[in-house]
Amino acid sequence: MKVAVFSTKPYDRKFLDQANTHHEIVYFDTRLEPKTASLAADFPAVCVFVNDNVGAETLQVLAEQGTRLVALRCTGFNNVDLETAFQLGIKVVRVEAYSPYSVAEHTVGLILMLNRKLYRAYNRVRDDNFTLDGLLGFDLHGCSVGILGTGKIGLIFAQIMAGFGCQLLGYDVYPNPEFAAIAQARYVDLPELFAQADIISLHCPLLPETHNIINAETISQMKDGVMLINTSRGKLVDTQAVIKGIRSGKVGYFGIDVYEEEDELFFADWSDRIIQDDTFQLLQSFPNVVITSHQAFFTKNALNNIFSTTIASISDFERGNPLKHELTL
Ligand code: NAD
Repeated sequence: MKVAVFSTKPYDRKFLDQANTHHEIVYFDTRLEPKTASLAADFPAVCVFVNDNVGAETLQVLAEQGTRLVALRCTGFNNVDLETAFQLGIKVVRVEAYSPYSVAEHTVGLILMLNRKLYRAYNRVRDDNFTLDGLLGFDLHGCSVGILGTGKIGLIFAQIMAGFGCQLLGYDVYPNPEFAAIAQARYVDLPELFAQADIISLHCPLLPETHNIINAETISQMKDGVMLINTSRGKLVDTQAVIKGIRSGKVGYFGIDVYEEEDELFFADWSDRIIQDDTFQLLQSFPNVVITSHQAFFTKNALNNIFSTTIASISDFERGNPLKHELTL
């Protein structure tokens, strides 16, 4: 089957070529959006990533050109207008689980980086400066960690943090018995999570109910100096509210792998250009903020799983088999 792959990077080609069985794959570097959708003319399948725009307008163009399958090579699907896809008869598949360990472990990396100021320590030692002023951290052992969303990633993250000797406060609209089974874990309501947690980590999907779930009001309920970590989706957080919190000292640490307005920035090299996003530039200027560019998923284990699942879904679609990873309303 002919597959148009958008937002392609060299590593996508490498892993997708390895996983491909027989499909005719054409790679496009550009993002999928209404003005680039014409590139997929006569492709029955398109393959997209987190920042491709699969909204109503794009889907309309794809449908008119004969596309019948959108294969997301990621877990989150907030960039797809599912209702329009159904109306147009376009099936949408995703990769539900490829390596929850990749994202959970990166989340822990952000926490250690912020707490022990590893980014500053690394640069300091490179500069032959062996002083410790400004590098003071705290023991994770005994801390309360609030986990918003205890699905696949939240659960693994919880298990790792339990190993550090943390107390775990979970919140989820669908509680997970495996989380509740962790000795140091208990479910609480959101106000209690916000009030009790020293570290808050987001692992829920971006939905209308979770959009800007971290905002001025919820930040005001948190402990002074709270550490906020987001490896889920940027729009879970009202960045302006966090900036106010950082300035007042309410937010003591902010670690993110995702950013509200990341679409234009992330996965591209901006080192020789002027970034026009003042909010992002301001965030970068704070000493207690660490940003990575949506790389939490980026392990070879995850990429192998992502592309073998994607190819299997495309093959199932081609053969008219049931789609194991289809998204339904
Ligand atoms: P999952 O579906 O296994 O778990 C999500 C959990 O969130 C579920 O238990 C669900 O019940 C819960 N949830 C839903 N609505 C909620 C709400 N209103 N409040 C609290 N909890 C709610 O998904 P997962 O595999 O654990 O992935 C979680 C998120 O991580 C994804 O949605 C995606 O946005 C993000 N992610 C990021 C990266 C990255 O590279 N940074 C990679 C993969 C996934």
